[in-house]
Formats: sequence, C-alpha cells, structure tokens
Amino acid sequence: MNNGVEPFDLASLIVAHDDANAFDAVVPPIVQTSLFTFPNYDEMVASYRGEKVRPIYTRGLNPTVRAFEEMLAKLEGGEDALGFASGMSAISSTVLSFVEPGDRIVAVRHVYPDAYRLFGTLLKRMRVEVTYVDGRDEEQVAKALPGAKLFYMESPTSWVMEAHDVGALAALAKRHGVVSVIDNSWASPVFQQPLLLGVDLVLHSASKYLGGHSDVVAGVVAGSKDLIGRIRSEAYPYLGGKLSPFDAWLLVRGMRTLPIRMKAHEGSALAIAKRLQDLDVVEKVCHPALANRLPAGLNGTSGLFSFVFRDGVDVRRFTDHLKLFKLGVSWGGHESLIVPAEVVLQQKAQPNSAHAFGIDARSVRLHVGLEGTEALWNDLETAIAVSQS
Ligand SMILES: *Cc1c(COP(=O)(O)O)cnc(C)c1O
Repeated sequence: MNNGVEPFDLASLIVAHDDANAFDAVVPPIVQTSLFTFPNYDEMVASYRGEKVRPIYTRGLNPTVRAFEEMLAKLEGGEDALGFASGMSAISSTVLSFVEPGDRIVAVRHVYPDAYRLFGTLLKRMRVEVTYVDGRDEEQVAKALPGAKLFYMESPTSWVMEAHDVGALAALAKRHGVVSVIDNSWASPVFQQPLLLGVDLVLHSASKYLGGHSDVVAGVVAGSKDLIGRIRSEAYPYLGGKLSPFDAWLLVRGMRTLPIRMKAHEGSALAIAKRLQDLDVVEKVCHPALANRLPAGLNGTSGLFSFVFRDGVDVRRFTDHLKLFKLGVSWGGHESLIVPAEVVLQQKAQPNSAHAFGIDARSVRLHVGLEGTEALWNDLETAIAVSQS
C-alpha cells in the first residue's frame, strides 16, 4: 500500500513541535535533543549576541535540565542552580571555579571519599593545598580559615556522621572572606537548607535522595546568581559535565515525592538506630539524632548511618545472612543497603580516606530504605542472631 510516503522520504517523519505549552502536559516533556535550530538568520544572530536567551546546544542550555535546576534552586532557597552529570562533576567544577595554583582549601574531615581523593590527587598536582579540620571544633576552624580561598563542608560527614553547626561555620568563613560550600546530599533540602544558614553554595549528589529511585547519576550546585554565574561561565561549559535531559526528567519526577520519602527514611532509620543501640553486640551507633540534640539548622535526619559491632560478631556472616539489606554502595533510593568497613578498608583507590581518618574496621554503614521498619528490623535481628560466635 502506498499512502504517498516514499520508503526513504525521511522529511515526512518530522513531527510538528508544540513550543508553546507541550499540550499542557502535567509532566514536563523530555527535550531529548542535542541542538536547537533557528527559524532565520536574525534569530540566530540575536541568540549569539546574547540579546535573546534560548537554547542553542544542550551542553549549554536545555529546557528539561533547566526545569530541574529551577526546582532545586527553589527548594534550597537559592537564586540559581546548575545541573551536572554526577555529584563529583558538581564538586570538581565548583571547586575548580574558585581555586588556582598556590591557593589553599579548608575542608572538614570525613568528607565524601572521592572528594577527598580529588583533593589528594588532581588538586594536589595543581598545587592547591587542603587543610582538614574537625568541623565540630569552631576554634580549630577559625584558626585554619585565614588566607584560604574555599571552605568545603559536609554535615553530617560521610560514614562517621559528625554533625556541625553549619550556620556558625558559615559565619566564620564569611568573617574571613572565604567562599563556603557544603555537600548537602545526606540531609537534602527537606532537613537542611544551608543557603538560608549563610553558606554561599550548596551542592548535591542528586544520585541519592533528590533522584530517590536509584536510577540516575547526577549532581547539582545552587547559590547566588553571582557565584553560580562564575561556575557557569568557565568550569561548566568547558569541563562539560552536563546533566542529560532524560536524567533531569527523572530527577524532576523523583523530587515530587522528596518530602514524604525523607520523612519515611527518617522514621525507620531512627527506630532501627535506637534498637541497635540497645543491643549488647553493638558498641556504638553513629546517628546524629542519638547525640544530645541536632545542631542548629538540621531539622531532621535521613536514612543513612553507621554502627560499630563489638568483637564476637562475624560481619561476613551477618551481611551474607541479610535478605532485605543488600550489599551495595550509594544510597538514597527505595532499597535498604549495607556496606562493611572491613571491605572499604581493602579498596585499592588512593589516597584511601578510610585509612586516613581511621574509620573503625568493625563498623558497618546502613541505608534504611522504604521497605518498612518491622521487616527491616527482623532482617537485622535474625542476621545478628546467627553471626555471633
Ligand atoms: C555519592 C556522593 C557524592 C558523589 O556523587 P556522584 O553522583 O556519585 O558523583 C558526593 N557526596 C556525597 C555525600 C555522596 O554520598
């Protein structure tokens, strides 16, 4: 049958655009395209001159990525945000926008291990020095700040969950004229809004709670128009770690349920952390809510924490016996996950942050997912019972 279309008439396959409103779709469309065309010469020239803001090429501006950036900026109380292909891309592009050879960064200890490795390899080669401080010790922080270019924070910190008074630390940085940035992946903007506490820039591994479904690797940084503009003008286009439209679409989808997911993670994780603390086989639980009080500005806790076994528990048997907690890195999705420190300490990547900061070899890190508190507790209790010697 021939309805007027030649077999190889590709021009007939071009679909009409709906530039105006995507048919009022309740879910924003994925603008999955690398480039955008111009209706005529004058439009093209106006875009190149910057007289008209419109997408030209997706590495620069893409409407789906922009939808995610605007959503995140709003959630964090920032003027602007930039999406990246990974959390590490957000971290490296942000840091590289503010330092040059000879500069010094002050960082809190126990930052995300790959941030630690970035500081210890690439930045070291660029002759950027990093001074590590205990973020709970404001005197130590104040002493380290003078002359630094950047103050790199994370609170609570990776694995050991040291929680800081973020507002107080940001004020110290401001007093010494140091740009401050914080990795807020753990708390998410639901529980901590660092920009409102005085931090200059907030960044995330969006692969974790923002996405929330373990199906995307992405990052984002938010802050003032001025500072985000600085990252956008150099590091962003030329390092090129651009968030893809499809991943941005997944993030927009995931973030719609962020507040309720965070509340559920909080409830289950806290209940489990408290029960673990009561067990004889557990020496210590590292969960910020088990300290006297949460630091100012931290208004809730998420699903990730660690705890330390006493001698007499076979960690290998314990992890292999778990049914719901799967052995796996990352976190922030529906699934409950476990990582034993004994395994992390054998990681070949150098420099090894676990060694550097003495993470207890008898500790394990849990991500408490959304499967249900009682089912998860039964899983842990059963596995502990069979792994005691
Ligand atoms: C996972 C993670 C990162 C890195 O993010 P990617 O998306 O994996 O590149 C940074 N910071 C924290 C706290 C993380 O957990």
